[in-house]
Amino acid sequence: ESVVNRIAAGEVIQRPVSAVKELVENSLDASSTSINIVIKDGGLKLIQVSDDGHGIRYEDLPILCERHTTSKLSVYEDLQNIKSMGFRGEALASMTYVAHVTVTTITGGQLHGYRVSYRDGVMEHEPKACAAVKGTQIMIENLFYNMTARRKTLQNSADDYAKIVDLICRFAVHHINVSFSCRKHGAARTDVHTVATSSRIDAIKSIYGVSVSRDLIEVTASANDPTCLVFNMHGYISNSNYSAKKMTMVLFINDRLVECTALKRAIEVVYAATLPKASKPFVYMSIILPPEHVDVNVHPTKREVSLLNQERIVETVQTTIESQLRCSNS
Ligand code: ADP
Ligand code: MG
Repeated sequence: ESVVNRIAAGEVIQRPVSAVKELVENSLDASSTSINIVIKDGGLKLIQVSDDGHGIRYEDLPILCERHTTSKLSVYEDLQNIKSMGFRGEALASMTYVAHVTVTTITGGQLHGYRVSYRDGVMEHEPKACAAVKGTQIMIENLFYNMTARRKTLQNSADDYAKIVDLICRFAVHHINVSFSCRKHGAARTDVHTVATSSRIDAIKSIYGVSVSRDLIEVTASANDPTCLVFNMHGYISNSNYSAKKMTMVLFINDRLVECTALKRAIEVVYAATLPKASKPFVYMSIILPPEHVDVNVHPTKREVSLLNQERIVETVQTTIESQLRCSNS
């Protein structure tokens, strides 16, 4: 059974960055305002995510890392109405099958916190009382220690660290009221450090640099036809003075960081046609859809989504961006 669990876990947690994404989403779900990440050896030795969220109750600790344990889904109907990012109760459990997981947490009003370690879905010992500041700290150590082949394919720690930094930048662009930091273990300097702000443009400037932010266009689109298409899009896209080595597409759908290849390609096509010299743009976009129109389960890592009426949404966004780009360049 443990081999089956390990293989399944390896599907959910494919690389260090997938673990970081799950942990940060949990911190965001816990209403954190500050999330700090420390990484050692590209995440293989250590991934540590500390937040100041609402913490985990003592009585929830024993089952925290059992598969399908989630505090975010109580009845079946909730499935049709998922607001929070986590809902399958699989991420933490999976990590315990492929790494050593230690949780330190304190809930509001408590005098001390608890620390507990997990392996293969179960607690290794009773929770130990310990000093703790507000929130939760999760340590993932020796990721893929029991998956030799996977470890071998992940020998480039600089590459994995870069992926993690990139991920944190994306979260920070969307969650501007949360401060994020990320650094290598032992390093004094952080590689990302954002402060909470109320201005999206300021956030983009501090994360992606002045050259992007100087040249941003605000874009919006919406449709409200209950019989076929309901959606709301808001974003910032780079204009004619900006082009990078590759396109940056930061996409949130219903506040979840996702990828939608069809949409990305469509936007790329618009830039190539309207601004060929700026054809590697920066695009930040937040789309809100009725939750039942988003299928997030097409992939175990929940990255690539498929949408109901996807073609029409993509088409609408495409025409909007095209006219807004033309308009600001004429
Ligand atoms: P899911 O997020 O799908 O519910 P996870 O395996 O990611 O499943 O997490 C399991 C549960 O652990 C969550 O439902 C939540 O109750 C709790 N949890 C995990 N991380 C945190 C955190 N940083 N702060 C508070 N609760 C957390
Ligand atoms: Mg989760």
